[in-house]
Amino acid sequence: MTNDTMQGFMFADMDIRGVHLRLDQGVKTVLNQQDYPAPVASLLTEMLIVACLLSANLKLRGHLSVQIRGAGPLKWMMAECRQLSDDPEQPFRVKGMAQFDDSIGPQASLAELVSEGRLIITIEPDKGQRYQGIVLVDQTTLAGCIESYFYQSEQLPTHIQLVSTDDSAAGFMLQRLPQTLSDETQADVDWELIHALASTLTAGELAQLPADQVLHRLFHEQQVKVFTPRPVLQQCDCSRERCGAAIVGLGKTAVEEILEEQKAIVIDCHFCNQHYAFDTVDCHVLLEQDVMAAEVNAAMH
Ligand SMILES: [Zn+2]
Repeated sequence: MTNDTMQGFMFADMDIRGVHLRLDQGVKTVLNQQDYPAPVASLLTEMLIVACLLSANLKLRGHLSVQIRGAGPLKWMMAECRQLSDDPEQPFRVKGMAQFDDSIGPQASLAELVSEGRLIITIEPDKGQRYQGIVLVDQTTLAGCIESYFYQSEQLPTHIQLVSTDDSAAGFMLQRLPQTLSDETQADVDWELIHALASTLTAGELAQLPADQVLHRLFHEQQVKVFTPRPVLQQCDCSRERCGAAIVGLGKTAVEEILEEQKAIVIDCHFCNQHYAFDTVDCHVLLEQDVMAAEVNAAMH
């Protein structure tokens, strides 16, 4: 099992919520799947943390992904967090990957990695409307970009702190909610206080301390209500079945053309390095099943 957990919390008498996340093991597993240059590994770590932090407050089954697309040596990066159920005992699942050139220096900054970059946040509930928000990568840090995204898109003041070291990955987020408990003046005062306290958390403390100690260290004079901690697992959602569906989606003619040139169709998952091979017989079984399913469907309508 994993120590990776997400700990949500609220203040009893303030319209502010927060989440603490530890993601050491999950990040290690993702980074082991490809040979990433140090600045890419560090940014991917932060992206995985952010995908989880933003998922924490969503009460839905589905996917939340964070992507960066740019014209610099980092072409594309994505981190995704999934909730398969709204049962608080169930883990969140993360995965992530990046595509990049060889020309990345060991100290490359965010601006050097991502030129003219865009940060895209997509929320895909299993049921319901897909949502997408986009913000320019025009801050010096990923945390700054996400804070700016929330400010621009939802006018929700947000505080995000991320740490990514060789053996520790953690994040901390606070968000001011629309007022329900107090008037605007009081809410401003509350936010300033909580934000100021949170700003005293050092990177070393965030890297080392468990959630309860972080909350005690920052907010021992406030009334904090913590939710059930939820585990976070690195887990890919690829499967032989999904790959089969993708092959069927190519169409019979295209599949037969490929099989004339090679013995099998091999699909590699770039998230988890799993290989799925479909030889001629496998492919024909898939195509036959598809024809049969179409016939059954037609007969039923
Ligand atoms: Zn996979």
